[in-house]
Amino acid sequence: MKIPIDIKTGSVKKESENKDIIVGIDLGTTNSLVAIIENDFPRVIKDESGTEVLMPSVLFFDPEGKIITGQEAKKQLTDYPSRTIKSVKRLMGKSYADVKDFSTSTAYEIIDSGTDQLVKIKMDENFYTPFELSAEILKSLKSRAEKYIGSKISRAVITVPAYFNDTQRQATRDAGKLAGLDVLRIINEPTAASLAYGIGLKMDENEIVAVYDLGGGTFDISVLHIENGIFEVLSTKGDTDLGGDDIDNDILQYWISQHAGLSEKLSDFYLYGKLLYLAEEAKIYLSQHENYAAFLTEDLQLNLSKTEFFDICKKWIDKTINACESALRDAKISVKEIQKVILVGGSTRNPYVKQRLSEFFGMTPHDALNPDEAVALGAAIQADILAGNRKDMLLLDVAPLSLGIETVGGLMDVIIPRNSKIPHKAGRQYTTSVDGQKNLKISVYQGERDLVANNRKLGEFILKDIPPMPAGLPKIDIHFLIDADGILTVKAKELRSDTEARIEINASFGISEEKMAEMLLESIQHAKEDADQKALIEATVEAQNVLLATDKFLIQNKETMTTTESQKIKEMKADVEKAIQSKNKNLIESGLKSLNDFAAPIAQRSMDHLISFSLKGKSLENSSEPEH
Ligand code: ADP
Ligand code: MG
Repeated sequence: MKIPIDIKTGSVKKESENKDIIVGIDLGTTNSLVAIIENDFPRVIKDESGTEVLMPSVLFFDPEGKIITGQEAKKQLTDYPSRTIKSVKRLMGKSYADVKDFSTSTAYEIIDSGTDQLVKIKMDENFYTPFELSAEILKSLKSRAEKYIGSKISRAVITVPAYFNDTQRQATRDAGKLAGLDVLRIINEPTAASLAYGIGLKMDENEIVAVYDLGGGTFDISVLHIENGIFEVLSTKGDTDLGGDDIDNDILQYWISQHAGLSEKLSDFYLYGKLLYLAEEAKIYLSQHENYAAFLTEDLQLNLSKTEFFDICKKWIDKTINACESALRDAKISVKEIQKVILVGGSTRNPYVKQRLSEFFGMTPHDALNPDEAVALGAAIQADILAGNRKDMLLLDVAPLSLGIETVGGLMDVIIPRNSKIPHKAGRQYTTSVDGQKNLKISVYQGERDLVANNRKLGEFILKDIPPMPAGLPKIDIHFLIDADGILTVKAKELRSDTEARIEINASFGISEEKMAEMLLESIQHAKEDADQKALIEATVEAQNVLLATDKFLIQNKETMTTTESQKIKEMKADVEKAIQSKNKNLIESGLKSLNDFAAPIAQRSMDHLISFSLKGKSLENSSEPEH
């Protein structure tokens, strides 16, 4: 079902006036792009100057608190590393524990809340979630596209890596919504790249394709099975820390080993920067020439031959070939069964990469398209299909609105995102928020808003007789299944005790297309206030959990703590309580941060290892009183 809405006037459009362009967006780690279909052909949109296609996925916070994105932000990277954020994609949908190693290498501050909440980034006195930052990149791409076509854009298809999980995909959707975009679908980058090469556009097609994506800092290989226009990811392997940057670094190291005394000179920051720049230049130059030469300083000439360059590449490309082997093993297919190999990512321009892949796969890889653009072009094609512009493509039945449940604080947790193909099943695990909770009410909602109060309630049921356990211990699996007729079955099961309950709902009963369109429109119009409200609720719930844990902590560690320490913790507790009262999210976050920073070493010292300090898992709204 297509629901055309007019973002400018707020009205639901008639089918005939639905000339809205849907953009395709490649939201990349290093660079992002936006593409559209023009005269039946996909094309990427350049920046205002008409030269740049890639927009660096970089944000700069200027001292006045304004956020600048793209090329202008990238320029600030060397001078203001702590105010410049790159690679925010690496943080999307991640908890602090997930990004511990990465966070030490950034100059900006990633907050460890001591819980398994999603990460936040601290800039001045503000705490940002990664999706808010990604939304800034998306806003810039949206406005680039709007300037180009001369009218507003309201709908988009956004790509994500095939290995992105449910939370990371949801974070990407949230970013889109916050940027004022109705995200029609999130598609896998390798799927988009295949579409760009026209693979998957014919109904009688059945083939197996390998998509090899080597960018600046990440590598992925995906094996896809494509049948009747449906893409299935058979396997995906990768290394989120391998890419062209490693080759640049090795060229730099090679030059250092060749020139005595060079190493000492590199304490000069600018000389180091220049050497790294020349290393990348050499790499790119050698994709087309035999020898590279340049002067670092007046008296120091650097040389690199193609043979030396290939030797340097070998170690890294070996790693990627190993990953290809392992992806084939996971997909349970032999290399001979691969019918096509597609190249994606700037680093696949390197002739050594092409040579090794040709040998490994026994065929010449597809490289006719610009490897930077393939993903965005494919996203535009997918957008065109969803717009119904390709009459030859079958439009699959989809769930018209998101389906989810209510979690603590009255928040909507989406389990089946809107526009998912049906039939569809999905599930997630939850826990309780109160000690000894016996009954759990599960409320099912439909809609796009962050607070369930603004969505449509479909039904509720109670999971009864959970054996008494401490809060956070029960493992409650909630499973959604929507069948081809749109009937939704929701099952809840407590895994430790096998307690089970379920409900069946006709999700499309009693709702018109107009009403759905209205709900969608409202979700975009209220995206900012919804996100703010949600962030405040999440911070409050987290703070309340931490306060409870702090009380336990104070009792458990009475013996090992000094009076000054416990006094200090109590003061900080009071600060957090005050912050909750004030309903100021940033104040709550900074109160929590201080409390956590102070208590963490004490907890460590008493070998408590934060066990009591972190309540694991999302919990459901405690809508039925615990029975003791
Ligand atoms: P990402 O997927 O991380 O956003 P890109 O796909 O934009 O990254 O790829 C950027 C990388 O491609 C950089 O390491 C750059 O040096 C490399 N690159 C660009 N052109 C060439 C070339 N001709 N030969 C080799 N490497 C190249
Ligand atoms: Mg990329």
